Amino acid sequence: MSRLDNKTILITGASSGIGKSTAYEFAKVAKVRLILGARRLPAIEEIAKDLTSKYGVSVLPVKLDVSDLESIPKVVENLPQEFADIDVLVNNAGFAVGVDRVQDLKMDDAVRMVTTNVLGLMAMTRAVLPLYYKKGKGDIVNVGSIAGRESYPGGSVYCSTKSAVAQFTSALRKETIDTGVRVMEVDPGQVETEFSMVRYSGDHEKAGNVYKGYEPLIPEDIAEVIVFAVSRRPNVVIADTLIFPNQQA
Ligand code: NDP
Repeated sequence: MSRLDNKTILITGASSGIGKSTAYEFAKVAKVRLILGARRLPAIEEIAKDLTSKYGVSVLPVKLDVSDLESIPKVVENLPQEFADIDVLVNNAGFAVGVDRVQDLKMDDAVRMVTTNVLGLMAMTRAVLPLYYKKGKGDIVNVGSIAGRESYPGGSVYCSTKSAVAQFTSALRKETIDTGVRVMEVDPGQVETEFSMVRYSGDHEKAGNVYKGYEPLIPEDIAEVIVFAVSRRPNVVIADTLIFPNQQA
């Protein structure tokens, strides 16, 4: 018996990396219902099939582009009844595009990063809150980053988006005091996922260099912390957790 049994969990960016791993971690530890959101529908359909066959959990793959802000309320409102009563939202979808110097910044890349990493996360949150307030409970876990705490050259826009996630999360936590809603943030350091390939537009050499000299985390390291946080007693809020590989400190 787990505190997570019968919970309905929506994970954005569930087609790879941390989001995918979080789906597996939830399915391993409890009888949950999972809603997997991402743009690559075939990938999440495949994951859904595998999760159901391995762990017997109900999984709904949903085509979701969090940067399409107008679509978000509709996606949440149109969930089939079995999945409509969301208990946990993991706002994980996000990406970075490498920007060497601010003067070379492509504004289109900046808009995409801000829309996905910040506005998409806000819109997802806004879409579940009425339900949470009605129930007097519900969890939100925002995946931030060490980049939201410490900037680095080339990270001007990405670091800004993750700082925005941290401030949004902190303000929402204060706003939801006494409502039964828990608002949490998990900030990973370097994790080996598709993130670096996306950041360097598929350039294997540049993407590989990111981890040169030390061993990065694996997605499971972050997934375990997310599942641990939401499986605490309702009065316990693991508010803000920074997790990085030992050699990154
Ligand atoms: P991945 O690239 O492996 O995963 C990113 C996920 O986000 C994919 O499932 C992708 O799915 C999804 N995604 C991207 N854009 C959108 C969108 N517009 N709508 C819906 N889904 C989207 O990287 P990670 O697993 O590493 O990244 C997950 C989170 O962790 C991100 O928020 C990232 O910023 C954060 N993070 C990662 C770190 C790392 O070192 N890897 C360090 C710190 C934070 P699809 O393409 O199918 O839509």
